[in-house]
Amino acid sequence: MLLDRFYNKYIIKGTLIADTPIHIGSGEESFDPVQVDNSVIRDSNGNPYIPGSSLKGVLRSYLETLLISGVDERFNACLIVNEPCLDNDDVKSIKETCKSSQSNQNVDRLVAEEIYKKMCTVCRIFGNQYFASKLVVNDCTLKEDKAYVERRDGVGIDRDTGTAADKKKYTFEQLAAGAKFDFCMTVDNLEPEYEELLKLMINVLKSGELRVGGKTSVGLGCIRLTDVSAYKIEHKNLKQYLLEGLKDEMRWQYV
Ligand SMILES: [Zn+2]
Repeated sequence: MLLDRFYNKYIIKGTLIADTPIHIGSGEESFDPVQVDNSVIRDSNGNPYIPGSSLKGVLRSYLETLLISGVDERFNACLIVNEPCLDNDDVKSIKETCKSSQSNQNVDRLVAEEIYKKMCTVCRIFGNQYFASKLVVNDCTLKEDKAYVERRDGVGIDRDTGTAADKKKYTFEQLAAGAKFDFCMTVDNLEPEYEELLKLMINVLKSGELRVGGKTSVGLGCIRLTDVSAYKIEHKNLKQYLLEGLKDEMRWQYV
């Protein structure tokens, strides 16, 4: 299903809990000697948050791993960097074929349909350079007014000797375990057969097995989704949703 008209919309809401401390770096290097080397990312109010893009990336790799291992042969996944399901040459030849076809259909839509047909399951849901993502995770902001940010010492490992090198000590910030965030994820125009995959993603979020951010190899970044409420908007309730917002009767039974 393309995204140019409305078929359905899934809305998943809940509370995300940090089961362990989390380190999602701001990516800004500080030149102030008193500052920590690796600060956590903060919003405009100075509060730590979990970027939706981080969570989306984690969900994408989870689904990739699952589908590449052949868990269900109806679904597939490409290696987006090394062996993408679609490249510029494919797109070029699709465009040429569509232009020369005698169909009365709008050529742009035909091209989009053909491209979509060639895409793997994961790219159809999470997007690639030719198609927007159907799945969007909002930035998860803190539920409480404040969160505890701790400073921790890290030790860099010398890559040549494999030993902890004295000169490579550094400080990093981490968000303390127990922090709670608002979670909201939407998926637009999902194929009925992909509903199962969405259920798998909700379940893995609930299981607490996923990790976000950096330093996951030392146990950081465990997140768990709780208080989940899921909704499905379709043609029959679209108008009501637009006028009145989410209602109990729009609930989607995902289990
Ligand atoms: Zn792909």
